Amino acid sequence: MVNALEIKDLKKVYSNDVEALKGIDLEVQKGDFFALLGPNGAGKSTAINIIVDLVTKTSGQIKIFGKDLDQNLEEAKMHIGIVPQEFNFNIFEKVMDIVVQQAGYYGIDKATAKKSAEKYLKQLDLWEKRNEVSRTLSGGQKRRLMIARALVHEPELLILDEPTAGVDIEIRRKMWEFVKNLNQGGRTIILTTHYLEEAENLCRNIAIIDQGQIIENTSMKSFLKNVENELYIFDIKGTIKNLPELRHCNLKMLDETTIEAEVSKDHTLNMLFEHFKKNNVEIVSMRRKTARLEELFMKLVDNNKNGN
Ligand code: ADP
Ligand code: MG
Repeated sequence: MVNALEIKDLKKVYSNDVEALKGIDLEVQKGDFFALLGPNGAGKSTAINIIVDLVTKTSGQIKIFGKDLDQNLEEAKMHIGIVPQEFNFNIFEKVMDIVVQQAGYYGIDKATAKKSAEKYLKQLDLWEKRNEVSRTLSGGQKRRLMIARALVHEPELLILDEPTAGVDIEIRRKMWEFVKNLNQGGRTIILTTHYLEEAENLCRNIAIIDQGQIIENTSMKSFLKNVENELYIFDIKGTIKNLPELRHCNLKMLDETTIEAEVSKDHTLNMLFEHFKKNNVEIVSMRRKTARLEELFMKLVDNNKNGN
């Protein structure tokens, strides 16, 4: 089957000599939900913007559904919808007009464009705002406007660059649901994010990019398999000097009132609570120390920094 996206040895050197991409390879299967993860400045937006012809590449090859971008740019563009990281619509234009106008770039007639705009503005809770000037929208609404605009020509591949940055948690969840549905309807989705939770919740396959290089490219499932343990912090009532050992669990006193517990993935927290009870340790509060994905991610990026 032909891939939705194929990137070979893609390089980008900006005019200020910044090597944003040092030759990346990437394949995204049709129907996939794919995350391009990486810290700020890793090269995510550069890669995305090259795919949609907002940035010119220095060298390398890109294919969209089997079509080389250099030879079939217009055709390739028909297949792609982009939600860029930066708001890039006219803030003095009305919401409806922004979406309908975009369809014009793809040669879609006005009546079809209006229908499509209505469908997506409704789905994205923006229909009431259709006659408002886009400047008056909130951050989350602006982001959703860009999603509606990206979908107006019904592209097979939707690319979202940090779609939920600065969007509050409720709207973020709604957006996840919306994009999930698009994927279940058969669309290929690529998103860049530095929220690992987002990738964990949504994506089937991931690549991690750091300093212009792909340092990991795998399925979300096997990536998470690498994360064996969860870390918890417990604040306790009173003070204790030490705590008896517990099998399958690494217990550490951080100070006299704080316990750190590393629990292996296959074991429940119950045994830990029983252990505390048996030893007359009363828990006042508990929290998870880091998202497990976060930890692995940081480790990978750190290793890359140190040249390992
Ligand atoms: P990310 O999206 O992963 O945060 P970017 O692709 O935006 O990363 O940036 C990658 C690197 O390229 C960074 O070092 C950034 O400063 C640099 N960069 C991005 N855009 C430009 C530009 N227009 N001109 C010069 N350097 C740029
Ligand atoms: Mg970016």
